[in-house]
Amino acid sequence: MSGKVAVVTGSNKGIGLAIVQALCKQFQGDVYLTARDVGRGQAAVESLASEGLKAIFHQLDINNLNSITTAAAFFKEKYGGVDILIHNAGIAFKVADTTPFAVQAEVTLETNFFAARDVLTHFLPLIKRGGRVVNISSFVGPRTLNKCSAELQQRFRSEDITEDELVALMQRFIDKAKKGEHKQDGWPETPYGVSKLGLTTLSMILARRLLKERPNDGILLNACCPGWVRTDMAGEAAEKSPDEGAVTPVYLVLLPPKITEPHGKFVSDKEVQPW
Ligand code: NDP
Repeated sequence: MSGKVAVVTGSNKGIGLAIVQALCKQFQGDVYLTARDVGRGQAAVESLASEGLKAIFHQLDINNLNSITTAAAFFKEKYGGVDILIHNAGIAFKVADTTPFAVQAEVTLETNFFAARDVLTHFLPLIKRGGRVVNISSFVGPRTLNKCSAELQQRFRSEDITEDELVALMQRFIDKAKKGEHKQDGWPETPYGVSKLGLTTLSMILARRLLKERPNDGILLNACCPGWVRTDMAGEAAEKSPDEGAVTPVYLVLLPPKITEPHGKFVSDKEVQPW
């Protein structure tokens, strides 16, 4: 049980894979490429090996609680915890997708908010002193926040919002979407945007909790936007390469020891953004 370790969720392709690649070059420790599908994950590890980079595979399906707890137990047993966690896994319906709005709302939030929360619930207690946690959110989070009703904006921006209250708000969006009442209830027309608004707000809540419960442990936890990146999710027209998309998350998790900021912030292009 020794050595430093970095874990990246959803990293068999896209931005997650580019993050693993960058960490293999820059992080002094073991780098875990995790994926829900063993075949896709191992193929990605092999593609990195062909470039001379050593990543290690572990299965992790964020929609499967048993998979999360099995992975968490593995890192606790083998490394005594986790030094770096980048929660990157996420989904988005294509703009042209005709799946009903209410279904898109439930499915998108299930992965991008509720499953992300499950990962954080089980991995945050494992983060070692001086550890770094980054949640890959999106620029659509603040954009969505600004389109919410004044009541919702006030709650998402407040310093006293609790995790339970946030969970209830995310559930409220799904319930209202199912009744076709989300607009009247103050929500914009974007399940993906709401899911990333929720993930960023959750990051802020957890960062405040870390300061309260582990004030001397020097852990930094932030949400960030990778930019608009050419991946299967965003398509070929996007402006950044996956390597460029990896820059801000990798910068945040490699911030040197003893630094106290940023923490509990939303960061884009290495800069803290207004919330
Ligand atoms: P991709 O679709 O290319 O990759 C998404 C990754 O997440 C895949 O590895 C996918 O695995 C994985 N994933 C999805 N669901 C699960 C799950 N249940 N368990 C484990 N892994 C899962 O997207 P990007 O690389 O573009 O996106 C990465 C992150 O960046 C996402 O959170 C996205 O929302 C965010 N983002 C992306 C932007 C962009 O412009 N691309 C802009 C802003 C934010 P599988 O191959 O098995 O499907």
